[in-house]
Amino acid sequence: MNKKLTSFIHDIIDKDLEEGKNGSKVHTRFPPEPNGYLHIGHAKSICLNFGIAKEYSGLCNLRFDDTNPSKEDVEYVDSIQEDVKWLGFSWEDRMFYASNYFDQLYEFAVQLIKAGKAYVDDLSAEEIREYRGTLTQPGKDSPYRNRSVGENLELFEQMKAGNFPDGSRVVRAKIDMSSPNINMRDPVLYRIQKTKHHRTGDKWSIYPMYDYAHPLSDAIEGITHSICTCEFEDHRPLYHWVVENVSAIAGLKSKPQQIEFARLNLSHTVMSKRKLRQLVEEGHVKGWDDPRMPTISGLRRRGYTPEAIRDFCERIGVAKAVSTVDIAMLEHCIREDLSSKAPRIMGVLRPVKVVIDNYPEGQVEWLEAEYHQENPELGGRKIPFSRVLYIEQDDFMEDPPKKFFRLAPGKEVRLKYAYIIKCEQVVKDEQTGEIVEIHCTYDPDTKSGTNNEVRKVKGTLHWVSVEHAIRAEVRLYDHLFTKANPEEERDTDFKQNLNPNSLEVLKNSFLEPSLADAKPGDKYQFQRQGYFSVDPDSKEDRKVFNRVVSLKDSWAK
Ligand code: ATP
Ligand code: MG
Ligand code: MG
Repeated sequence: MNKKLTSFIHDIIDKDLEEGKNGSKVHTRFPPEPNGYLHIGHAKSICLNFGIAKEYSGLCNLRFDDTNPSKEDVEYVDSIQEDVKWLGFSWEDRMFYASNYFDQLYEFAVQLIKAGKAYVDDLSAEEIREYRGTLTQPGKDSPYRNRSVGENLELFEQMKAGNFPDGSRVVRAKIDMSSPNINMRDPVLYRIQKTKHHRTGDKWSIYPMYDYAHPLSDAIEGITHSICTCEFEDHRPLYHWVVENVSAIAGLKSKPQQIEFARLNLSHTVMSKRKLRQLVEEGHVKGWDDPRMPTISGLRRRGYTPEAIRDFCERIGVAKAVSTVDIAMLEHCIREDLSSKAPRIMGVLRPVKVVIDNYPEGQVEWLEAEYHQENPELGGRKIPFSRVLYIEQDDFMEDPPKKFFRLAPGKEVRLKYAYIIKCEQVVKDEQTGEIVEIHCTYDPDTKSGTNNEVRKVKGTLHWVSVEHAIRAEVRLYDHLFTKANPEEERDTDFKQNLNPNSLEVLKNSFLEPSLADAKPGDKYQFQRQGYFSVDPDSKEDRKVFNRVVSLKDSWAK
């Protein structure tokens, strides 16, 4: 056993193993509905289900919960597999579809009808709702509740054959219309829906409901612990009713139990597939994998690593109480992961030109620079130094306040890996007044890494050589929503809280030439700026970088 975490779920499993339940095995599943891309909330469920299986030397299935054909698509099936793999988990040969069980589920429903535990109801959806009653009022029996088994079987057969219009009839479990739990008041098991399914095509005119298909898919696959989010707590008696009643008549591989945990909510974003789909379809973001999205594909494109996401899921842990995690904690996790892994390079995001008047024209020095001071394994490269450089606009002020230790008229700074320079003169555009060039002199006796580093100055700046730098587009991201909880006001559309400045594109950034070979997904620390990842939009001669996260950590531990 490879156990390390603790939670109330672990406690339940430990007890089950002790009592020998389900043959003392642990078999979990991750059951996404293929109706959208996975998000960071799903990552929590993936880490939990696959993680528990691993800790207990058990198994975890990937199962597509594809019982609602109108919203599902193979595009999502493919993206889900990619995301689970990328997160570092493997289902091996255990990938299933609920739709694989449609024949079996139908047969079980026939058996339930035969056993007097299900019936065909002709009430409309609205009437069913009315008859169902409320929390304070018991429900009423449907006038069709006591049909004979023969009539029920005949009608169910015809529903299957497509002889009735959509929504005209349903199959319901016969449980208890006065149950205090509304889910137990004869829940619907099958509905008529003549929609093409992305796997079974036109074969079916009826589709099973989640509350029926899910427990049975679990039991067919031999799942022992069916872990889901707390919205399903009230459905648990129904889950167990379905398993109990079907296993009493048909052979099922296991009697799984449902265990609920609190879903993950993250600040400054939304996490339901329906809302994320709206953002995509209405063009508020560029796609499901837009680096501002909380989707796994968005985070991957942004530059998040699987290690950081797994670490995040472990830190937030599992509990029953719903809470919202500050997005700063997710950012903290990627910062931690990249801080030791990412080579540290120099890139100037918003450039201004520096000319070193006393540096010989045409001369180039290739300066030695390690990629990471504390991680020598990353190696190093040479950086060209020449007479004309770029520095960051922010690193120069014509009229600086007292504690400004960067470059200013008459002031000195060190250029990282190179020399101390002094600002002698500023050249401005006559019309706009914009600074076009900063003229400096350098002190040849102050080269870094030599014993001539005697003179100390307070500021050290990053820079690139104009002649050698590569031009890049840099995309800076901010929170997708301005409010920590964009869904806070019930009667306002959550999209009103979208952050209009969530993306800033810099078209003219310049990077040291070692980045010429950077490939999509490669990650770097741009010194003094943050962590950046190469975007797949990059072309050979035009790299695009996403800022994963800035250097400053705002997460209060
Ligand atoms: P959404 O509301 O975003 O569409 P869902 O629950 O309908 O989510 P499913 O595809 O059914 O999406 O989810 C697959 C699994 O992931 C389920 O077991 C579900 O409980 C879990 N899950 C979904 N969202 C979260 C979340 N925010 N935190 C933890 N687990 C989640
Ligand atoms: Mg669901
Ligand atoms: Mg959903």
